[in-house]
Amino acid sequence: MLNFQTAREITSRLCREKKLSESEFEWKESVSLASLTSFKTGGNATVFYPLTEKAATLSYPAFCKAGLPVFVLGGGTNVIARDEGYGGILFSLAKLKEISVSGNRITAQSGVPVTALASLARKNALAGAEFLYGIPGTVGGAVFMNAGAYDGETKDIVCEARAVLPDGTIQIFAGAACGFGYRNSVFIENRALILSAVFSLQTGNEEKIREKMEDFMARRREKQPLEFPSAGSTFKRCEGYFTAKLIDDLGLKGARVGGAMVSEKHAGFIINYGHATSADIFALIEKVKAAVWEKKKIAIECEVRTIE
Ligand SMILES: Cc1cc2nc3c(=O)[nH]c(=O)nc-3n(C[C@H](O)[C@H](O)[C@H](O)COP(=O)(O)OP(=O)(O)OC[C@H]3O[C@@H](n4cnc5c(N)ncnc54)[C@H](O)[C@@H]3O)c2cc1C
Repeated sequence: MLNFQTAREITSRLCREKKLSESEFEWKESVSLASLTSFKTGGNATVFYPLTEKAATLSYPAFCKAGLPVFVLGGGTNVIARDEGYGGILFSLAKLKEISVSGNRITAQSGVPVTALASLARKNALAGAEFLYGIPGTVGGAVFMNAGAYDGETKDIVCEARAVLPDGTIQIFAGAACGFGYRNSVFIENRALILSAVFSLQTGNEEKIREKMEDFMARRREKQPLEFPSAGSTFKRCEGYFTAKLIDDLGLKGARVGGAMVSEKHAGFIINYGHATSADIFALIEKVKAAVWEKKKIAIECEVRTIE
């Protein structure tokens, strides 16, 4: 509550100083994190929605400089919220959704769903973004996580990302400056708020692009438990092993804690098969990690991030 009051005072001050207007942002109190995350669990949080890029670039560093805990939320598809909720400011770019095409480049704000980006690329006969089709997150989350699937990773098509650092510097991270690695980027370390990204694609054939996207989506439907809430693959790939296979080989498909279960369809997914709490999910993650360590001496790591 104290954090919320401080943050509200900051946005009111920015309005008094005429740097921002009240119409450029929204506050939402006591929002259920279950409604904002694909796992559909978690308590409540106060959410700040900038409605303009200016509101994002002024308020994010102001909250950080005031020492407030801030968690940036994209589509909420790679995060677990705690049952007790989040006491800091949940900073959501979900409402920044501008997207435009110029030649073979697409510029998209962080709140644009990557599936929409892939569809726009297809309509413009631009190839290279097909792998994003079916990943349920946003541009911000995909750049932050270097999301990837099938034959591509975000790093292959992002030529630059525009971000604001906690100290207020607005910076363009071009090419290697994004520090992309497997489910990794420089933004995990520098805590920058990604505002938008530019994607560089190649001229292609719309029908072929569509076929590829449909093939990827069909493979997802066949292999992934899309009918249950989850955050996709719970664990990172580990050196030399398919993590899902390791888990499957240990007979852990169907293992449960409360309402959380290792999917019987895809051992890499922990699903909320009915009324799971976040505590159930955390406990099941630990159980799987411990079993893999005990039997194979491999330390698997969680890909999913905790809102804290
Ligand atoms: C059914 C299903 C299938 C999936 N399949 C895949 C897949 O094939 N490949 C894959 O890579 N992932 C997959 N995922 C996981 C997830 O969709 C991706 O990691 C996605 O990129 C996360 O994006 P998001 O917008 O939901 O980010 P969130 O889950 O909201 O956030 C993830 C992280 O990014 C940070 N973040 C988000 N936006 C910003 C921003 N603007 N600035 C700074 N930090 C930011 C957050 O703080 C958080 O740490 C899947 C998930 C589900 C539920």
